[in-house]
Amino acid sequence: MSYQVLARKYRPAKFQDFVGQEHIVKTLVNSLREDRLGHAYIFSGTRGIGKTTIARIFAKALRCEARDENQNPCGECNACHDFDSAASMNVIEIDGASNNSVDDVRELISNISYLPSSGKYKVYIIDEVHMLSNSAFNALLKTLEEPPEHAIFLMATTEPEKLLGTVLSRCQRFDFVNATVEELKSHIVNIAKLENITFANSELIETLAKLGNGSFRDTLSLFDQVLSFSYGQDINEDIFAQALGIAKLSSIKTLIDSTLSGNVEELTNMFSALISQNISLQNIVKSILENLFSIVIAKDFNDRSRVLSKVDGEIFDKTTRAELYWVYETLAKDFTWTLESIIPTDATLLAMRKVALRHQIIADTQVEDTAGKPKAQVVAQADEVNTSEIQTQPQPQPEKIEVIESEAEIIVEEPKVEEVTKPHKIIFDDPIEPVEQSTEEVVEAEEINEVSAVEEVVIEGPRTWDGFLAYLAKTSPVMGANMEQGNLIGDLVVQLEKVSLLIGYPIGAKVFYDHMNNQETLEKVREHLRSYFQVQDIDLSIELVEKKKAEETDFKSKFEINIENENIEKQNQRKEIEGDEMLQLASSIFNSKIDKIILNEDE
Ligand SMILES: [Zn+2]
Repeated sequence: MSYQVLARKYRPAKFQDFVGQEHIVKTLVNSLREDRLGHAYIFSGTRGIGKTTIARIFAKALRCEARDENQNPCGECNACHDFDSAASMNVIEIDGASNNSVDDVRELISNISYLPSSGKYKVYIIDEVHMLSNSAFNALLKTLEEPPEHAIFLMATTEPEKLLGTVLSRCQRFDFVNATVEELKSHIVNIAKLENITFANSELIETLAKLGNGSFRDTLSLFDQVLSFSYGQDINEDIFAQALGIAKLSSIKTLIDSTLSGNVEELTNMFSALISQNISLQNIVKSILENLFSIVIAKDFNDRSRVLSKVDGEIFDKTTRAELYWVYETLAKDFTWTLESIIPTDATLLAMRKVALRHQIIADTQVEDTAGKPKAQVVAQADEVNTSEIQTQPQPQPEKIEVIESEAEIIVEEPKVEEVTKPHKIIFDDPIEPVEQSTEEVVEAEEINEVSAVEEVVIEGPRTWDGFLAYLAKTSPVMGANMEQGNLIGDLVVQLEKVSLLIGYPIGAKVFYDHMNNQETLEKVREHLRSYFQVQDIDLSIELVEKKKAEETDFKSKFEINIENENIEKQNQRKEIEGDEMLQLASSIFNSKIDKIILNEDE
């Protein structure tokens, strides 16, 4: 008996045989049961998913004289025999890909007005309907607009978006979903059982299912291919890899192990071996990424047992989660260009070597960086090199990862100017012209603000300038903000009956000086000073500090000082984060500089 391909041998014969398309089967079966049928159906979905098969079963069931309780065709009646004869006048099937002219369609529908020779319906099956030419489509459309009662169209397509809206709107549309890897796996297992075929391990079944790309037919074609190499033996890794032209799982494991552990020699040897076995680079790269993906996910669940066939257990434990993510992302990114490069094999190997050598590359860069720097910095850098562990083995650093995840969001981008190292200073270099309108707004806001708050604030501890500013911030926030644009010059002198102070404004804050420097506002300030210091006599002066004098005396407004302090604080936090070895690793792997560190303001 000649060999029958698996896809044909195991083609579903009943509605209930379809895996993963239950939503479609249910609707079709119900419409048959209730005899509520449309005149045109579109079955869309990927190739080899069962569109045409379900159309044929539906067509056969439509004409069957004795459907079973599940609405499947009986296979025994005249209509079923007529259907099976392939010369049926009542079920007409064409392939839109090869019969796509307007004449083909005209011929198809020329007899449409004649009643079926038996039974109730004439069924037209058009496969790959999107391949019809425009004029063929239009001819079809006219029929679809006013089909005879007995005509039913079943159309299958892989590209429903190519169909005219006017066609789609006249059809009931059924979208087939791609088969999942799990569905394909259980399909393979079932067939293997029926065919008495044994796979050496379940990884092979999984690989086969993945290669099937969501299509039952493609999966079974690959299965056929493997069987043709096995000559009745059990399917082991060698047969499998040879038949499908893919790398053995154990080879991919070696590539991944050596990349993660930094063993470039082993990496290079295995890579070259696979290339010399004529395994396509595309396949190698795809397998690496697929397996790495599983490894990353296993790391997320802290479950090494599920990936021991893909990575060495010890290497899995030693590689941190963050590092695994970087390795995956970097390779995924690099492979997209290496495959397109002039010498793809070399470029791909180099990209992998770079990732494997990441620890040494960081160490090298750090040593190079120290050249030509001031001594103090060199010492500091050298310390970093020592602590950053120049080893081939990646070190687990769980605590540091915690830091990354909980305290800050790190955005690593393409190299840019190193903004991070420059503190973000707000410096009023150019004198700002006083803007009348904004000054008025400030005054108004202040007046509203001041109505009731003054007496309510409880003051604790010794009376100081900073204390006064804090008091102002509570009692009169607008004036407090204005006051912070300047600062105390010299000492604040608190005597028994009298407080003396001189407030200066940097030239850049002239607009605030102008606002403060009038009798009315100054009197308000005195009022605040009186109630804060509990002293009647206030000797208050105010002056504008020229730029030169400010530089000589290191005079800064409270606002500037606050900003500076904040920046120092942030910079310290950044330095802590930047100094983190894992982050440096990230920068080097991503071939980029840390562009932005967003500190979580709540922390
Ligand atoms: Zn029948």
